[in-house]
Amino acid sequence: MSRIRAAFWDPTGSRYGIPTWPWRMAPPHLATLRQLTAAGLRPGGQGVQAQVLWRSRRHGAPGVRAAYLYDVRFALPKRTATPAQLRALDKANTARRTCPDCGTDAGYVLPRHLGTCLDCAEATEVAA
Ligand SMILES: [Zn+2]
Repeated sequence: MSRIRAAFWDPTGSRYGIPTWPWRMAPPHLATLRQLTAAGLRPGGQGVQAQVLWRSRRHGAPGVRAAYLYDVRFALPKRTATPAQLRALDKANTARRTCPDCGTDAGYVLPRHLGTCLDCAEATEVAA
């Protein structure tokens, strides 16, 4: 093991406060948020359990970088929206696209500073 890897080897967390492993050395039951999401899981209320530290040579972001890990044994399945929630979201988004002046679905979310679709805003501007 190289000296840099040894610097990040701290499974008990005595040096870094939380259990720490070098790049690619973390035990398999620990996963990043992205890894949990890819497996259809969410942290489920648990905090960060451990971290991976590595020295990055990436241009613009050199230095020590960290990835926070969660325990898959405490992870819960991702929640999916119920049909009622999806209906409510659809209704709210339709309202955001519907112009109060001409009453049509503009096809985009209306700018808040106008409060109307762009066509109506332009028409009132020309009239003024
Ligand atoms: Zn309109």
